[in-house]
Amino acid sequence: MMPEGTSFAALLDLLGRVKANAFSFTNEDGCVVGVACHPRAAILNHSCVPNCVIAPGPGGRIELRTACEVQPNTELCHSYTDLCAPTRLRRLRLQRQHGFVCDCSRCKEGAWAGGENVDDAMEAMARPTNGCGVADAHQREVEASEAMLMRAERCADASKAIALVEQALSVRRRWCHPLSLQRYQAESAMSKLSLSRGDHEKAAEC
Ligand SMILES: [Zn+2]
Repeated sequence: MMPEGTSFAALLDLLGRVKANAFSFTNEDGCVVGVACHPRAAILNHSCVPNCVIAPGPGGRIELRTACEVQPNTELCHSYTDLCAPTRLRRLRLQRQHGFVCDCSRCKEGAWAGGENVDDAMEAMARPTNGCGVADAHQREVEASEAMLMRAERCADASKAIALVEQALSVRRRWCHPLSLQRYQAESAMSKLSLSRGDHEKAAEC
């Protein structure tokens, strides 16, 4: 409760501080049940290549765990955003939600795996354009598959839902890079639907 007579500006200031520094508070099932302020953890900075993660601990506490070997005198950082998002999206979200432009090594130089820039791959189409607008047609096909996934999400009939997701997945497997977000989204939808139907074999293929 705020003391009586608290000004609107003071209230806004407090809400801003909570929004910038609070952590999700989860129960033992990992479900978010509220937010909590942890002053010591709140001083940690962000990196898109974090060396630490914040994990729920016992009794409502949180634990800071290293995610790789950390050399002495290295700053500990965790991620404020979804690391599965490509650079463009991560930077946009960080700017909107936390008010800064990320300048970490991944944002500046990209993340590389097998000679490939992972962030570029996340947004890439699999087939290069032949200069005759073919890639645009592929792009439109991929965009149309978004409607299929949305319809599947709202569909009460499980068989119809799985048929829609199968159709969308087939388009995205044909045209999207294996690391692209669009491909991941369809694979993930199929995996979840298959699991909900008890089809573990199909879920494992995604
Ligand atoms: Zn970054």
